[in-house]
Amino acid sequence: MSIKNRAFFLTASKQLEMREIPIPKIGPKEVLVRMGAIGVCGSDVHYYSHGRIGDFVVEYPFILGHECAGTVVETGAEVTKLHVGDRVALEPGISCGTCEMCRTGHYNLCPDVIFLATPPYNGCLMEYIAYPENYAFKLPDNMTLEQGALVEPMAIGVNAVLTGKVKAGDSVLIIGAGCIGLVTMFAAKSSGASTIIVSDIIKLRLDTALKLGASHTVDSRGDIVSEVMKITNGRGVDVVLDCAGFSSTVKLSMQLVRPNGRVVIVGMGEDQLNDIPLGLLSTKEVEITSIFRYKNLYPTTISLIAGGLADINGIVTKRFTFEQTAEAYSSAYENPSETVKNIIIFEKAEEKVGA
Ligand SMILES: [Zn+2]
Ligand SMILES: [Zn+2]
Repeated sequence: MSIKNRAFFLTASKQLEMREIPIPKIGPKEVLVRMGAIGVCGSDVHYYSHGRIGDFVVEYPFILGHECAGTVVETGAEVTKLHVGDRVALEPGISCGTCEMCRTGHYNLCPDVIFLATPPYNGCLMEYIAYPENYAFKLPDNMTLEQGALVEPMAIGVNAVLTGKVKAGDSVLIIGAGCIGLVTMFAAKSSGASTIIVSDIIKLRLDTALKLGASHTVDSRGDIVSEVMKITNGRGVDVVLDCAGFSSTVKLSMQLVRPNGRVVIVGMGEDQLNDIPLGLLSTKEVEITSIFRYKNLYPTTISLIAGGLADINGIVTKRFTFEQTAEAYSSAYENPSETVKNIIIFEKAEEKVGA
């Protein structure tokens, strides 16, 4: 087999460069995956432009990308579940498996996790990647690799909704209609929430939310409190899923959740919260939780998409080839309010292995 491998390296702020790299050697429990689709995430774009997120600082050259799916082209000697030709979504966080958080089922909180495109670990913007079998999830035949790459953000929405215990007939408010807000909306809808209110400041995003499943949209520059109260007959919503994560939105969540309701903080817009109405919090008995990524949710998320419960392709703004990776990034960076999700689709991604 004469194949070569290429990867995109971030060599400086906003500089992406394609370079040839060796095909990785797979370990006994690993598979070699030919990449088919890679999403461009907000965090990727932040590293691309700013070179850091909090304490995670990029050292150049660095490989971005953590939302991906592809086709297995080789299997290690001890691989048992996957076969050549299987199409898989890769879960980007490989946890240690032995620490307290891992052993108690909270592997997303593992302090030693190796997460794609989170410094010091490189991401997946390459043609061939070696990956542990246990973190590669087989896609059913009716799912595309594009949908496979979008399992990653969607799993966050599923985590938000499960953590918020959204159930049939519930009313929910989703603050923020970017990628995570929209996938959270899909998850809320598939859990049976009947009133799904989505708020944002960008008209295009609200239109997208309405098209893809929101029952109501609210422009958060207006009087959102009275609008949501009107929709819920003055009661407030059962669950608020705050996909923005600012002081102002957490405050809004306290105001708009019904007494004894639940608030899940999904987004992380600000490091520090100010002006939180403790009085409301105390007298309403609100349950507030936060989530970090997801755990054990790839299979659930895959069945949800495969079952047609989320119009996940609807969040894709623009598609690019692998060769156009630099453009996929610059376009997401330069047009933040018009971009929900740019995605890189490899040529012949869906072609059978060996064909
Ligand atoms: Zn992401
Ligand atoms: Zn661990």
